[in-house]
This record gives sequence, C-alpha cells and structure tokens, in this order.
Amino acid sequence: MTQSSDRISCPKCQASNFANSAVCWQCGQPLSGPDAQTASNQPVGPTPPPPPTPSFEPARPTYAAKPQNYLVWSILTTLFCCLPAGIVSIVYAAQVDSRYASGDYAAALDASNKARTWAWVSFGVGLAVSLIYGVFAFLAVVIGNMK
Ligand SMILES: [Zn+2]
Repeated sequence: MTQSSDRISCPKCQASNFANSAVCWQCGQPLSGPDAQTASNQPVGPTPPPPPTPSFEPARPTYAAKPQNYLVWSILTTLFCCLPAGIVSIVYAAQVDSRYASGDYAAALDASNKARTWAWVSFGVGLAVSLIYGVFAFLAVVIGNMK
C-alpha cells in the first residue's frame, strides 16, 4: 500500500488532495480522478484513406495554337512609323508561320514575341519622330507668327 495511491495533486495549485475529492480543497479547481485520465483512449475511427498519388502531367506533345505573327502590325508600323524596325518585325513575323509549320512551337513563339517587340519599337520610334517633328512644326509656326 503506497501513500500516493489515495492522494492527488491539484493541477492548478499543486495542493495535495484526496483522490476521491471532486474539487481542490485549496483553490476549488475541479479534480479529475485517475479513472478519467485513463478512460480517454484514442478514438477508434475508420482509418483515413491514403492521400492520392500526385498525378504529374505527362510531357506529351500538345497541339498548341499557332502564336500570333503580328504581321499586320509590323506592316502597318513599317509603312507609317519606322522602316528599319518594321522590317525586322516583318522578318520575325514571317518566321512564325514557317517555324510553326515545321513543328518547332517554341521557336515560333519566340519569333512571335520578337515580332511583337519590334513592332512596338517601330511604333515607338515612329511616335517619337512624329512628336519631334510636331514640336519643330509647332515652333516654326510660333516663330513665324512672332514676326
Ligand atoms: Zn488547487
């Protein structure tokens, strides 16, 4: 017979209580007997299903749509904006169709991006030239009216 069998320490104030007492005599903390501790077994439930195996996308060839060749934009910017950059854009735009026809989708997409970039360059240069020309024309008119 051990002395600790009929004694239980309060989890709140560590006071020694009788094992059959419901609450702590010192602080009133509800005491849970040793039966309540051991009775809380793990709930026996259905085992959860194993996580689904991650399905990776197989690297199969996908028939992606043909990237835009921006041919119209490159021709328009060549005519109305900047001739050299527009010609570069037209060259890349022409490569989009040929590269896509040969099955090299990555190269076709690369040519498409370059055609778009050069079309924007041509547009930007043409816009800048137009603005500078407009500024000089405006100054010419102003100076002409000052006389
Ligand atoms: Zn207590």
